[in-house]
Amino acid sequence: AGLHELGAGVSVCRACPRLVRWREDVAHAKRASFAGEPYWGRPIPGFGAEHPSILVVGLAPAANGANRTGRVFTGDRSGDWLFASLHRVGLATQATSVHAADGLELPDTRLVATVRCAPPLNKPTPEERDTCAPWLDREVALVAGSVRVVVALGSFGWDAALRTYRRAGHDVPVPKPRFGHGAEAHLARAGAAGVTLLGCYHPSQQNTFTGRLTEAMLDEVLGRAAALARM
Ligand code: SF4
Repeated sequence: AGLHELGAGVSVCRACPRLVRWREDVAHAKRASFAGEPYWGRPIPGFGAEHPSILVVGLAPAANGANRTGRVFTGDRSGDWLFASLHRVGLATQATSVHAADGLELPDTRLVATVRCAPPLNKPTPEERDTCAPWLDREVALVAGSVRVVVALGSFGWDAALRTYRRAGHDVPVPKPRFGHGAEAHLARAGAAGVTLLGCYHPSQQNTFTGRLTEAMLDEVLGRAAALARM
């Protein structure tokens, strides 16, 4: 099975009762500003290149963002920041990501959420994180032939990437590499190409409104990913 089958499979997953309820309740209630729009209200598959050099690992879909549009990081403020930066560093064909049929392409990059369903307060439980991990493992396996750089957004994405790549047979240094903005760790794999893991503050409003993450800082890490992918 390939990425399309994986996407189809994850989009009907109902393994986490609390998240199934939340994603559907939000889709049913709708935010007033989107009252006239359909909501996806289901798990969010990966999006982007099928043979990416760069894999970007986020946290979870936003209730009124990807949970509405059906495409990861699409239709919310975090996505506005992320796609604008991907475009500035040459990794996205458009600077905006508004809805799933807007024509945006990521020729060399794939975006995934660690937990595929929108969680209340953007906080999945450890159990939900672990229940969803096989979907990330399978996606990572399907793109393993081409991925050289992994960008982890936030410490949640960083830890998920370390766990996933360890399960995939990569060496993860002990003690485990610390997350930070611009942190870099090489995850070697015997007999195969390794990947470089890059840490990046999550472009959440909590970080962008407060100035903890600026556009220049985001461009720096994504630009570094693009440069590493071209090497
Ligand atoms: Fe399934 Fe993951 Fe959604 Fe849980 S979070 S219901 S495992 S897709």
